[in-house]
Amino acid sequence: MSDKISIVVPCKNEEACIELFYDAFVGVISTLPVEYELIFVDDGSTDRTLEIFRTLARRDASVRYISLSRNFGKEGAIYAGLKAATGNLVGLMDVDLQDPPELLREMYHGIKKEGYDCVGCRRTTREGESRVRSFFARAFYKIINRMSDADIVDGARDYRLMSRRMTDAILSMSEVDRFSKGLFGWVGFRTKWLEYRNIDRVAGSTKWSFRKLSKYAIDGIEDFSTAPLKINFFLSLLCMLGALGVLAAHIVFAATDARFHEFMELSPIFIAVLFVGALILFGMGVLGEYIAKILHEAKHRPVYLVKETEDDLKKVDRETREDTLQYR
Ligand code: UDP
Ligand code: MG
Repeated sequence: MSDKISIVVPCKNEEACIELFYDAFVGVISTLPVEYELIFVDDGSTDRTLEIFRTLARRDASVRYISLSRNFGKEGAIYAGLKAATGNLVGLMDVDLQDPPELLREMYHGIKKEGYDCVGCRRTTREGESRVRSFFARAFYKIINRMSDADIVDGARDYRLMSRRMTDAILSMSEVDRFSKGLFGWVGFRTKWLEYRNIDRVAGSTKWSFRKLSKYAIDGIEDFSTAPLKINFFLSLLCMLGALGVLAAHIVFAATDARFHEFMELSPIFIAVLFVGALILFGMGVLGEYIAKILHEAKHRPVYLVKETEDDLKKVDRETREDTLQYR
């Protein structure tokens, strides 16, 4: 049986890139001994993105598209595309050609010949990125890897090719707040990393502001770690130790030395404040634990909603054809 590769491409306002991407992609994929489908996801674009998808889908039967009812964010768009994919190998690519299509050959080889479940790409440099952004990005990867059990690789892009079983594993996680970088690491499976230098996007502009990236980072930590909720336990322990320390000092000084008069007067207040503080923080820690559990259970909303797909386009095209035939 020959292989079928499905490539999912999320797009938000990418009219300038889509055709350039399509040409470059077809140039590479047609050299591989595979069938393929290209699944574009229109993530609430307000420019000509959807029109370009329609044109490509009419021209090339391997092109499919899903247009979402609004902007659900790259993660939602990826999920929509992965769900629609029918290939036995499934990949993700950005449309701005920052993910070089030539690497697809090596990715395919890695899965077919070397037996990996996933071949992903890592950029080794952060050229073209501001220093502040690089600094925060690096710090983020250090922190999240320390705090969670998802193995998240610094510099890993979403660009990857996966086996069907890994794709199904990703799809089996139906949570709403999807932090793909974490999900890919969390499911495990053997992953090979290809390294390359950072490339600037061919056209258009990045969809990520610093504010959006910070939110993304914080979401990632919250989705894969409940450590922040446990800070209260740690603080309550500190308070308790403080209270015990002051109490011990009070007893020692009361027995041996009456010179610490002021301290003796105030120490009961210190003890009471620290002790009550410890109790409150402990209570909050317990609440935090339960909130963390609820957080994990409460994610039932759909991740995306579809407005139009290439099937709708074909139906409309067929109907217009029949109408014109009838009235001729
Ligand atoms: N993207 C998307 N929805 C969004 C934001 C981005 O589908 O809300 C797509 C975008 O069109 C592109 C990819 O995600 O194909 C990566 O976005 P971008 O190049 O802006 O990110 P960067 O490379 O700067 O991290
Ligand atoms: Mg980009």
